[in-house]
Amino acid sequence: MTRYSRKKGNHGYTAKRKQLKVKRRTKDLDEIDNDLEPQNAENLLNQPIDLDVAGAAQHYCLHCARYFIDDNALQAHFRTKVHKRRRV
Ligand SMILES: [Zn+2]
Repeated sequence: MTRYSRKKGNHGYTAKRKQLKVKRRTKDLDEIDNDLEPQNAENLLNQPIDLDVAGAAQHYCLHCARYFIDDNALQAHFRTKVHKRRRV
């Protein structure tokens, strides 16, 4: 079993799980494809300050459609397996 293998079946109380699934939902791959167009990428990388998102929307990973709290977190994320797998 690998680290990323999916667990199957119902694991008891699911209401909280579903709530988190919706909250943490990221973009679908076709949406990300669209974001990688140079024009859209430019807009996403230079977003206005938005205090409702992590790091005020100043540190964004295009490939994973995620916000990070600061540059350190973003750089650390670039070195992770999750990011490298998506970037290919
Ligand atoms: Zn990433």
